[in-house]
Amino acid sequence: MKEFEYAAAASVDEAVSLLAAHGPRAKILSGGTDILVQLREGLREADLVLDVKRIPELTALEFDSARGLLLGAATPCYRIYEHEQVKRAYPALADAARIIGGWQIQTRASVGGNLCNSSPAADTIPALIAHAAVCHIAGPDGRRSVRAAEFCTAPGKNVLGRGELLVALEFPPPVPRSGARYLRFIPRNEMDIAVAGAGVWVRLDPTGQQIEEARIGLAAVAPTPLEATEVAAWLAGRPATPESFAEAGRMAQAIARPITDMRGTAEYRRHLVAVLTRRALADAVGRARGVG
Ligand SMILES: Cc1cc2nc3c(=O)[nH]c(=O)nc-3n(C[C@H](O)[C@H](O)[C@H](O)COP(=O)(O)OP(=O)(O)OC[C@H]3O[C@@H](n4cnc5c(N)ncnc54)[C@H](O)[C@@H]3O)c2cc1C
Repeated sequence: MKEFEYAAAASVDEAVSLLAAHGPRAKILSGGTDILVQLREGLREADLVLDVKRIPELTALEFDSARGLLLGAATPCYRIYEHEQVKRAYPALADAARIIGGWQIQTRASVGGNLCNSSPAADTIPALIAHAAVCHIAGPDGRRSVRAAEFCTAPGKNVLGRGELLVALEFPPPVPRSGARYLRFIPRNEMDIAVAGAGVWVRLDPTGQQIEEARIGLAAVAPTPLEATEVAAWLAGRPATPESFAEAGRMAQAIARPITDMRGTAEYRRHLVAVLTRRALADAVGRARGVG
């Protein structure tokens, strides 16, 4: 591995000025489970590796049932699924956090790092889309916010500009009669990258029989994680039945633009995304009804 300098910023302002001073040769380090591997394998190069875990805002986890969740970008995954209220309020996020690598990886890997690495197959991004997360970004021109659904722009690329870093992810407060689920398919039981994934969120009507609102995020079936807005819009007002879930799965299949690679063919991914969307919807509805 090529030698680099290491610095640990104590504040967002310090991180922004170090990034501005070093330009693209500075790389941010959160949990390091992607970036250290990439540096070691020569896929990325850095003169400066900037650790952001000492910045309190970046490792925060603040939950309030009226205000929602503020999750620091570098907060490790285990803190999400070990937090009983957060796990109940944002179940698709907890599903995704619990399957990233093994538990050793989960003690380091962050949702912010997963998002900033911007892999089309990243597990947390469909869950961020499903839970309507918003990204808070800081940079030389101040602060701005972007919907998580619009953060990734191409494989490994995102909206972050020169000198910018992701500070936190904000999630709206939980609402009654809602449920969510993230499911992925991998060839082995663990420690693999999704061949396809689906994160869904639903809100039911007071009878619990009809879907009032839905959001769906899909992984590994397009160059970026996909927000399936057409499918979500179609589901609003439909009965929460296996027939609706199956039709939504077929619609998700129709908007998927997968590639063929060593993990699976495009045709296989299209098949999987229909199955995963259907099953994730059934599970999310079950959770909204207080089952599962
Ligand atoms: C054994 C193993 C298993 C894995 N399994 C999975 C899996 O099942 N599913 C999955 O999705 N991923 C998996 N991964 C990939 C990785 O663990 C995740 O993507 C993880 O969430 C990355 O988080 P991190 O905090 O380690 O990020 P880092 O490696 O620290 O950073 C990742 C990228 O984001 C940038 N970055 C980090 N933080 C910020 C910030 N605040 N602002 C701007 N840029 C930032 C970094 O510069 C780097 O480019 C696995 C990795 C390993 C090594």
